[in-house]
Amino acid sequence: MPLVSILGELKKARENSYAIGCFDIVEPLGTQGLVSAMEKKSSPGIIGIWSGMLDRPNARALVNHTRTMAQDSTVPISLILDHGRSFEHCIKAISMGFTDVMYDGSKLSLEENISNTIMVVQAAHAVGVKVEAELGQVGSGHNYQSFGAIRKGFTDPDTVVQFVEKTNVDMLAVAIGSAHGTYQGDPELDLELLCEIRSRTDVPLVLHGGSGLSDDQFRTVVAGGICKVNIFTNLAVESTKRMLEEAKSPEASYSSLTNKIREAFEYECERLIDVFGSAGKS
Ligand SMILES: [Zn+2]
Repeated sequence: MPLVSILGELKKARENSYAIGCFDIVEPLGTQGLVSAMEKKSSPGIIGIWSGMLDRPNARALVNHTRTMAQDSTVPISLILDHGRSFEHCIKAISMGFTDVMYDGSKLSLEENISNTIMVVQAAHAVGVKVEAELGQVGSGHNYQSFGAIRKGFTDPDTVVQFVEKTNVDMLAVAIGSAHGTYQGDPELDLELLCEIRSRTDVPLVLHGGSGLSDDQFRTVVAGGICKVNIFTNLAVESTKRMLEEAKSPEASYSSLTNKIREAFEYECERLIDVFGSAGKS
């Protein structure tokens, strides 16, 4: 199956009310677990690599490993740059073979976010790469009570039409109360705001900070129009839990410990594919 931009699959997901998981990796064992889960579930999938990873010495090897695994898989898989911090990072990712890039101008003014997103979209579209941008700002779980929980950074629905029309962006990440990392307190999502945003645009909507939400919350946001959900912390937490448990065993070895990473990514990805409703959709 060729490595593909996920946009076509996201449009199908939007029309049929399911979501596709975007699972971030930092090393090859995670990728192997994810691809195995996507194949077992016959689900399209997205593998994300965080922008900061591109500055590391093994970046090209990690990208090539991920691309090869996706190309050899039986289901459509895309490779997206997660939180591209600059135009240059997005161009670097495109040159390395990413199918999709996220440009994150969420900490900038609306005008700067729009003008930078326009540059990324024009460059990416010229070579067939699709672009996600963020409108509003999804914060961190560790300061959730002083940010997302009090509605800081929430997407202003009145800016949605202007942002999408001016930038020609393909996917839109929105801030409705989710946060990256581990939540301080319980996450609360503004579903009315999601509904309002959804009524303003047909562009596939993306939820970052999926880790830590309940299965019911996932089902509600997917029903409300989210068709891409970003996940990393769940994968890291599950991997750590399994490795710590394995380390207690007298038979623990290098391979048995590292295998736990692959197993954890596979388990959590399969579980979430069922929750998001994308099983059997490839
Ligand atoms: Zn994110």
